Amino acid sequence: MKYSALKGIQDILPPDSHLWQRIESTARSLFQRYGFLEIRLPLIESTEVFTRSIGEATDIVEKEMYTFTDKGNRSVTLRPEGTAGAVRCYVEHSLYNLPSPQKFFYSGPMFRYERPQKGRFRQFYQIGAEAFGVAQPSLDAEVITLLRNLLGEIGLRELNVEINSIGCDACRPDYRNALLAFFRDRLPDFCPDCQRRYTTNPLRILDCKVPRCIELRQGAPAVTDHLCGECREHFDELLARLQALHVRYTLNPNLVRGLDYYTRTTFEVTSEHLGAQKAVAAGGRYDKLVKEFGGPPIPAIGFAMGMERIVTLLKEAATEETPAPKAFIATLGREAEREGFRLAEEMRAGGLWVEPNYGGASLKSQLRKADKIGAAFALIIGEDELKAGKAQWKNLKTGEQGDVSLEAVSIWLIACS
Ligand code: ATP
Ligand code: MG
Repeated sequence: MKYSALKGIQDILPPDSHLWQRIESTARSLFQRYGFLEIRLPLIESTEVFTRSIGEATDIVEKEMYTFTDKGNRSVTLRPEGTAGAVRCYVEHSLYNLPSPQKFFYSGPMFRYERPQKGRFRQFYQIGAEAFGVAQPSLDAEVITLLRNLLGEIGLRELNVEINSIGCDACRPDYRNALLAFFRDRLPDFCPDCQRRYTTNPLRILDCKVPRCIELRQGAPAVTDHLCGECREHFDELLARLQALHVRYTLNPNLVRGLDYYTRTTFEVTSEHLGAQKAVAAGGRYDKLVKEFGGPPIPAIGFAMGMERIVTLLKEAATEETPAPKAFIATLGREAEREGFRLAEEMRAGGLWVEPNYGGASLKSQLRKADKIGAAFALIIGEDELKAGKAQWKNLKTGEQGDVSLEAVSIWLIACS
């Protein structure tokens, strides 16, 4: 019997895993500087945590959730995103009693039952951030700047920050009516999903990916023309701050995002190099969600970025060096092999990646292996070398060679750049 991973679920192997590690450590370091501390959240929650917050009429809740009944007859769901769980956690532990803002980041797998394709998986990974307790646009500006800087430090270029404000409960009804009036006559030409959205949640029509619907909604009223005074002021101040921080952005009045909990600011970072799935990261403000989870009315904002799409972009840019051992220690005979292992330990203690010979193989096949694994140097220790207290070395990139005493070889190798 041969097994393979489930459809849309992939293994992450070296050398890619090295890239993943680098992205994660860059993120950790940057989050620290902005005061975002790590939270580790469960992969599984009560289904309601997601249905109530993300919204019944969204793609995620309607079609994409991994929901099942556990042995205690409870409906549970593998998390499709991070914000709902973070808010559940924030309220459960009364973190609003701590000084504001409380800023967190998380990293880990998400699960959505989507049609697998390029840039779209059923288990995928996100790094996300959530900041609670500040309603002012200063926090929006910080979060968006952090995201831009993070993607920059990771090494991504030519990204576009798209930004919008979708207003609040005060401006939404007016905008909703304007949308309904605009769509009314064209409704029969829209896809069945959009026809349903017309009654359930007309804003969602702006998020439809069907080409015909995209065409049909050209000229739809822009949400930013219907903002109430306070939302307008919030948005203008955010844009002014982004300009002051030299964060370039484009306004996208259709950016409503695929989750219902957003209020005011929404944003997405896109890359033209990704084809149809061009969003690398996305987020927004969710000022009502903490209250909906039974907490006080605490405003918040967050984002999540998709690891797979970032990795794709980095691999395309091909600036990465695959990690490889500094040396392979080739040995002949039991004594030399033991000495090789001792040296390997010494070198590892000195911070080097060194691969020893595990015994048996001919010198020729050991050297072939040294080449294959991309070692920078081969060190050769046979019986003669052992007697003379020396190792032969060969630089596998340049072909240069020489010898060095066994006592000094570790120091010598550490010093070789
Ligand atoms: P999309 O419009 O691409 O479906 P989304 O609005 O569903 O994205 P979010 O829920 O905002 O995405 O998630 C944030 C980021 O997570 C996306 O920008 C993307 O990079 C990544 N992402 C979302 N769904 C998937 C998936 N199925 N596979 C891989 N990455 C994903
Ligand atoms: Mg989606």
